[in-house]
Amino acid sequence: MKIAFDNSYAALPAQMFTPQLPTPVAAPAIFARNDALAALLGIDLQAPDAAQVFAGNHIPAGASPIATVYAGHQFGHWNPQLGDGRAILLGEVLGRDGIRRDIQLKGAGPTPYSRSGDGRAWLGPVMREYLLSEAMAALGVPTTRALAAVTTGEDVYRETRLPGAVITRVAQSHIRVGTFQFFAARKDIAALRALTDHVIARHYPQADGPAALLDAVIARYARLIARWMGLGFIHGVMNTDNVSIAGETIDYGPCAFIDDFDHGAVFSAIDQHGRYAYGNQPQIGAWNMAQFATALIPLMPDRDRAVQDFTAAVHGFAPIYAQAWLQEFAAKLGIADPTPEDAALVTDLLNLMAQDGADFTATFAALSDDQGRDQFMDRAGFDAWAARWRARQAGDAAQMMAQANPRVIARNHQVEAVISAGVADDFAPFEALLAAVTQPYQDHAVFSRPPKSYERVTRTFCG
Ligand code: AMP
Ligand code: MG
Ligand code: MG
Repeated sequence: MKIAFDNSYAALPAQMFTPQLPTPVAAPAIFARNDALAALLGIDLQAPDAAQVFAGNHIPAGASPIATVYAGHQFGHWNPQLGDGRAILLGEVLGRDGIRRDIQLKGAGPTPYSRSGDGRAWLGPVMREYLLSEAMAALGVPTTRALAAVTTGEDVYRETRLPGAVITRVAQSHIRVGTFQFFAARKDIAALRALTDHVIARHYPQADGPAALLDAVIARYARLIARWMGLGFIHGVMNTDNVSIAGETIDYGPCAFIDDFDHGAVFSAIDQHGRYAYGNQPQIGAWNMAQFATALIPLMPDRDRAVQDFTAAVHGFAPIYAQAWLQEFAAKLGIADPTPEDAALVTDLLNLMAQDGADFTATFAALSDDQGRDQFMDRAGFDAWAARWRARQAGDAAQMMAQANPRVIARNHQVEAVISAGVADDFAPFEALLAAVTQPYQDHAVFSRPPKSYERVTRTFCG
């Protein structure tokens, strides 16, 4: 297989990564190929050695495989040493669209940053990440992508024996807030500066220094979280090492789309205190940007001045987010030019939904079809709200709403069912669900339907 690598991260200072080859696996078999994404990258996934390449058994010419180092706040606790513990960056490719992207194998074997981990992934989280990230891409949300997925023919152990797998992840980069934090904490100013220059050139060429970079990252991240909120998406592990500096959704672990709406919804089995609950995501977003700002301070000549300026920049997160959130939900309600008062209209609807346990996606889809009333038990409450809503709707509300309200999301119970089939070596359900979630604005009898009470899956795991 030929891949036209053009690697820039591996040319940065040596303390920013470790050269690391994937560990070969016994019997790779490819079960998912993203041909459209491959075409954008100039890669032919039908090549006979595709399974070998995307399992890490064959290293294509031009690759410079590395594991990158980073740190991070995990659930608010500082961890000075993390890094790619099971991911290996093969290299970068310039797409047909001119955008540079990383090609990374996740689950490709241990690295110096694996700590006690085995460097592997099991099939469940690989299928989950593939489905969820491609669903998000189809919904127009900035996200890492899935290029291919293979089973390894080897077992991994997670309380029980499970089939191993590797996912090939494509991202505008894998640089995180935690990457900045690692060098700032070590006072390695040379690396911090090299990283900052690299990120500006690569992702924010209009920024003229750390202060402008901070503003730009804050704006992208605030808008990203507003998109998550508008889709009922809960990331689940918003640790600073899982915050992409390019503003993409990254690290699909115990994430989930909400079924019945609840501001405090938590799916992740490890999020015991609800730090990353649905309704907390914007506050955590601002907190994460404060950590990014802190990591940039050592680059500034006048520290006191920078602390003041960067504090103001971080305070800028909330109004950018509020505006993006309002735009997001206004579109979902067919309101063309939202005013500040429309925020109360949205909040009142969400409160009605929470009170009735209405399904998030199905309710907005039903509102698009003028069937919203059926989603509520409190009919009088809905009618009172709907009267206010109708008065605010634009002429082309129906069209706006059709484009803003998906009918299919990657629902937890569907994802779990697909994983069970995959473990039994049946990938047909995976393909069917993938086809549905990547056409999210089309009605789909099976996959649009919310779970029945006995089908509900309320816990998700890291893997
Ligand atoms: P996450 O919470 O998914 O962001 O993971 C936190 C850290 O644990 C990252 O540095 C990962 O590389 C590492 N990690 C997760 N799973 C494994 C594994 N099975 N083996 C080695 N490292 C892992
Ligand atoms: Mg991570
Ligand atoms: Mg993870």
